[in-house]
Amino acid sequence: MFRADHTGLCATQWMPMTLADNIARVQQQIADACRRAGRAPESVMLMAVSKTHSAEAILEAAAAGIRLFGENRVQEFAGKRDALAAAGLFAGSDPARFHCIGPLQSNKVNRATEIFDAVDTVDSLRLAQRLDQAAAAQDKTLAVHLEIKTSPEAAKHGIAPDSTDLAALLEQLPDMRHLRVCGLMTVPPFAANPEEARPYFRRLRELRNSLAAQYPRVSLKELSMGMSHDFPVAIEEGATVVRVGTAIFGARPPVARG
Ligand SMILES: *Cc1c(COP(=O)(O)O)cnc(C)c1O
Repeated sequence: MFRADHTGLCATQWMPMTLADNIARVQQQIADACRRAGRAPESVMLMAVSKTHSAEAILEAAAAGIRLFGENRVQEFAGKRDALAAAGLFAGSDPARFHCIGPLQSNKVNRATEIFDAVDTVDSLRLAQRLDQAAAAQDKTLAVHLEIKTSPEAAKHGIAPDSTDLAALLEQLPDMRHLRVCGLMTVPPFAANPEEARPYFRRLRELRNSLAAQYPRVSLKELSMGMSHDFPVAIEEGATVVRVGTAIFGARPPVARG
C-alpha cells in the first residue's frame, strides 16, 4: 500500500489529494485497525490536530465531517477562534470541539479554560487545581485528560505512572467539581517503526485498567494515543481517541521553538 507523501500529493499517481480525501483515508485506516482488533469503528474518535494550520483548513476539515480538533498553543488557537466562530463552527446541535494537547503554562490557564473544551495535558496536581479554580470562576466544567509519561527515558511531558503526584491527583480529582476527568493521554518517544510505540500504548492501557480499579470514583474511559504514523497500532492497543495532524493537513512548517 502506498502512503500519501507529506506534500499532500499521492506518491504513485501524482493526483492532488484534498483534505477530504485525506480524512476519508484516515477513517478507512481507523476502520481497518478496528476490524483487526475486533473493535467497533465507532469506539475510536478521530481528533484532527490543526496546530500551525489556518482557520480555512480547519473549516475545510469540518466540512468533511471532523468535529474534534487538537491545538497545542493557547495564543495560536485564540487567534483563529474568531474566524471559526464567525463561520458558525461552534453553533448548532453538533458544534466543533477543541482540545488543548500541548503543554500548558500556569499563566495561560485562565485563557485556555475560556477557549478550550478540554485540556488533555494535565500533568500535575497543581495544574489540575489551577484549572479547577479557573473553571469555577468561569462557571463551567472543563473536560481533562491526564498526560502520562509512559517512557522514563524520553524527555516527554507527563506524570510518571508510579509517582506520588499521580496518586494525589487521582485522590483529589473527584473533589474538583469543575473538572470532568475523561481518561489518559500519552505521547511515546518517536520511532520511525510504529511497532516500537506498541509497548507504550499497551502500558497506558494497562495503567488505565489498574487505576480504574484502584480509583473507582474517577472515570478513566478514554485513552488518547496514536498520531499520524502510528495510530493503527494505538487502536490495536485500545486507543479511543487518535490525534492525527500530518496525515490530514499535510506537513507542518518547521517551527523554531524551545
Ligand atoms: C502535533 C501533535 C499530534 C499530531 O502529530 P502528527 O504526527 O502530525 O499526526 C498529536 N499529538 C500531539 C500531542 C501533538 O503535539
